This record gives sequence, structure tokens and C-alpha cells, in this order.
Amino acid sequence: MNGNITLTMIKPTAVKNGYAGPILAMINQAGFRIQAMKFMKLSKEQAQKFYEVHKARPFYKDLVEFMSSGPIVAAILEKENAVEAYRELIGATDPSKAEKGTIRHRYAGNIQENAVHGSDSDENAIIESDFFFSRVERY
Ligand code: GDP
Repeated sequence: MNGNITLTMIKPTAVKNGYAGPILAMINQAGFRIQAMKFMKLSKEQAQKFYEVHKARPFYKDLVEFMSSGPIVAAILEKENAVEAYRELIGATDPSKAEKGTIRHRYAGNIQENAVHGSDSDENAIIESDFFFSRVERY
């Protein structure tokens, strides 16, 4: 059975460029309900932990630096089949390959500074939501 939540982050460059509002509007228009949301800056250690699965990848160090370089918006989004629906809304990891009308096509700078994160599985959506939010921070 498909799950109904996914975890997103609006990444530092997108926040810095003033795209948090427009991205949240797209999320809203696409029919996601916000269960939880916070504006925060990840420490280097937190970014390392969040992206631990990519530890062996050549871009890991740069990614951790980038993700801890400025404030982000983290949110749990609710919708039927949320993981797949949100990945469709955000588009491909590399914004030059993202479909027109997707968040990354509109607001991403490059493959690293690609505007938003979206969970890649129901299992990870739960792990990532627990990483950011306690029970009393969800509505
Ligand atoms: P996602 O699920 O679409 O976010 O993509 P991945 O899980 O494969 O990668 C996680 C994040 O690492 C991406 O969102 C990018 O910020 C970054 N990333 C992925 N591939 C590359 C790459 O080839 N080079 C760099 N610099 N960053 C990358």
C-alpha cells in the first residue's frame, strides 16, 4: 500500500532567492496538506546524518556544506500516494532534465542546488519526517 506522507526541504539557495513562498504555493495548488513545517538551519552534523546514504558519493562533502550553508524550510506533506505525487511535482534531480512546470525546472540552479528535497520511498518518508519533527509538532 502506498503511504500518504512525504518529507520536503526547500534548500538554502531557493530560500535565499525568495522562492519559499512560490514553492509552497505550488505545493498547496497541487493538493498537498502541510502536516508539519519549520524554518531552520541544519548544522553540518545534522546534514551529514540526513544524507548519510550518500556518504560514498563524490558529491557528499559539497552537499553537506551546501545544505548547512543557510536556512531551509522542512515540511511533512500529506496526499494520497505522496512520495510519487511529490516527485512528479518536483521533477528530475538534474534541473536541466526536469519537465517544464515542475518545481526544479522553475526554481533550481543546478544539480546540487536543486531547490527542493523529496523523499524517495514511503520508508524514507517516515525516517526523514521523524528526523525533523516530534509527534507534538504534527497536525
Ligand atoms: P533526489 O532524490 O532527486 O534529491 O536525488 P539523490 O537522492 O540522487 O541525491 C540527493 C541530492 O544530492 C540531490 O538532490 C542533489 O542536491 C545532490 N546531488 C545528486 N546528484 C548529484 C551530482 O551528481 N552532483 C552534485 N554536486 N550533487 C548531486
